[in-house]
Amino acid sequence: MKRLTGIPASPGIYAGKAFLFLESEYPDIPRFSIPKRQIGEELKRLDRAIEEAMAELTLIHERAIREMSREQADIFAAHIMMLEDPDFQDQLKARFNETHLNMEWIVWDLARELVQKMRASPDPVFRERSADINDISRRLLSQLLCVKRVSLAELDRDVIVVAHDILPSEVLTMNRSRVKAVLTDEGGRTSHLAILARAFGIPAVLGLAAATREISDGDTLMVNGGTGEVLVNPAKQELEGFKKERMKYNKRLEESMSGKNLPAETRDGMRIVLNANIEIPEEAEQVRNFGAQGIGLYRSEFLFLTQGQAAEEERQYQAYTTVLKALEGRPVTIRTVDIGGDKILPDFRAADERNPLLGWRAIRFSLALPELFKTQLRAILRSSVNGNVKILFPLISGVEELEQARGFLEEAKAECRARGQPYAEHIEVGVMIEVPSAAVTADILAEHADFFSIGTNDLIQYTLAVDRGNERVNYLARSTHPAILRLLKRIIDLAHQGGIKAAMCGEMAGDPGSTALLLGLGLDEFSMAAQAIPQVKRIVREISMEDCRKLAEEALGGKSWKQNAALVESWMAEHCPLELAV
Ligand code: PEP
Ligand code: MG
Repeated sequence: MKRLTGIPASPGIYAGKAFLFLESEYPDIPRFSIPKRQIGEELKRLDRAIEEAMAELTLIHERAIREMSREQADIFAAHIMMLEDPDFQDQLKARFNETHLNMEWIVWDLARELVQKMRASPDPVFRERSADINDISRRLLSQLLCVKRVSLAELDRDVIVVAHDILPSEVLTMNRSRVKAVLTDEGGRTSHLAILARAFGIPAVLGLAAATREISDGDTLMVNGGTGEVLVNPAKQELEGFKKERMKYNKRLEESMSGKNLPAETRDGMRIVLNANIEIPEEAEQVRNFGAQGIGLYRSEFLFLTQGQAAEEERQYQAYTTVLKALEGRPVTIRTVDIGGDKILPDFRAADERNPLLGWRAIRFSLALPELFKTQLRAILRSSVNGNVKILFPLISGVEELEQARGFLEEAKAECRARGQPYAEHIEVGVMIEVPSAAVTADILAEHADFFSIGTNDLIQYTLAVDRGNERVNYLARSTHPAILRLLKRIIDLAHQGGIKAAMCGEMAGDPGSTALLLGLGLDEFSMAAQAIPQVKRIVREISMEDCRKLAEEALGGKSWKQNAALVESWMAEHCPLELAV
């Protein structure tokens, strides 16, 4: 038995089998001539590869219909059609008959050419199909090269995925009904993998450093995503202890869920707004089940990441409308895309960025690509007639960016008017405060914004110079650091002085240990993973604003994160003697 400890990134307890998900890069594609006498055999090799790929795809498609969303199942149906397409097969054969080069090269070369052509096409449908060509050619290649193709979308059994790292786009396309827990060597609590795992309710322990070395495929694992503990091939008595932990966890979950529809009101009568963060439209249906009053952050870039490229206006319009309709008039804050950092789109990869987190990301990306930005703004504007929408700009570092973004919004409105497309009369425009320069100049930004939303994940990363996805320095990312508390106080006070509200949508807002402190600092609205709402609400109902203010005052005088963390912990034990850790 081995015991590993990592960063607790998404709560939940699960025991099951390990599935090692390691990148299987294709070797360099070989290129050689086929002798005349083997030409017939090489053509048969292609037929066999197509046949086997078809059989594989048919199985996956059937499973996808049973276990995944309709949209995901449709992707595999489209792959089957493309592979069956006589035109595609004829092109492969014609090329082979012309060159007599080996079939792997022919497949790779044709796919490369088709993908390039499709990506350059003005027709959006054609552009979208380029990802499918990539996919079927990889499937054919894996047959021809006899390389096992690993994909999380094709899992056929329940597993605990163990990986060095998993990209947000891979989480979006994996078979989520089969992935029961996630363990990675890299990553931290506020990395996008952690955020998605929490959104989908999948237990996760990240930053384990050597999980892929210490764990073998098929090992029995016990994972506690709330404590960060992982047991590898545990003995019988450990398994028993684990079951008890799981029962306790489920009981606590049930208890907090039982109060989900009660008002979020402190003991002295202050009503608090508790909103949900979402990443994909499907989540919108569930947020009400957890008692969310609205959506405080819709990370719209995941729409792009799901399909591996920028989404067309119509598709965005549909997605936003779905969310707005699901919320039935409650506020929905759509953040314009935060592409860049770890959320890369292949078509928009900035060449050789040495520091992607300090580079071409979020509002910088949108401002540099006005057509793409205005497409998104028009889609949001058009959807606004279906509910109560707010727009939020990410990673604003100064007032010029905000003015420029607002300028594009006005242009988008004019374009909608010219097309005769209606939009809501008054749409609030907010600024994410997640760069230290924005926090310091919050008084100036407040003059040009209708609300602030504090993104503590990035604010902590940039203020304390800690890469949020780097497990080696993650221990430094402390929300109780005096620098962070002072900045939070400043942002909230300057928002209020400017006559606007301060919300928070970073992970700190959903941390039950921070609820009292944030209320004491004067935060108006909280937005978090929907699953965290019942527990935070339970705490809100246990405490009084007066006590929270005293706590915040004392914490603002603290000299270190350790001192402040100890203060908050003992305060919670005294004022809110609930069992918090899950
Ligand atoms: C944040 O930075 O706190 C935030 C909410 O945005 P994201 O996590 O998507 O960067
Ligand atoms: Mg951010």
